[in-house]
Amino acid sequence: MKDGIMLDPQRGLNPHLAKCVACGSDTNEILLLGTSDRMYKCGNCDGNIIGGRNKSKCPLCNHTGLKFVRRVDEMERIATGFCDACKKKKDDAKQMVLEGGVFWRCLKCGSEGALGPNHPLSRKIRQDVPAPKPIGVEIEDGMCPICNKQEL
Ligand SMILES: [Zn+2]
Ligand SMILES: [Zn+2]
Ligand SMILES: [Zn+2]
Repeated sequence: MKDGIMLDPQRGLNPHLAKCVACGSDTNEILLLGTSDRMYKCGNCDGNIIGGRNKSKCPLCNHTGLKFVRRVDEMERIATGFCDACKKKKDDAKQMVLEGGVFWRCLKCGSEGALGPNHPLSRKIRQDVPAPKPIGVEIEDGMCPICNKQEL
């Protein structure tokens, strides 16, 4: 934290465990929030922002219409970054796309992943956009492995 930590009068360093933004498991990181334990919602990009008192500007889109939601609970885990398993999944997905696969994103649940080079959809798309140029498709719940709890 570049501004240093402001000790909270009641909570001191105010340590919180971090969790993975994708799957919610522990990332083994500890965040010291100090007084920066206010949750805001951005009216523009819908981002969930955590910051100090009177924060007004969204760090994601620079919109200046943050709405205060609540203070973070004392034992609450904070979603930030990816856990090792999800990092690996992302790296694997990147690798698959380099080798002729395509990224996918589910319009319904927001999950992301990659189809392998041999998937029919990859083959079709790769006729127009040859690897290793990255390309992605948006899919709907009928095809999504997360929505359907099965492999593509
Ligand atoms: Zn994860
Ligand atoms: Zn925003
Ligand atoms: Zn889905």
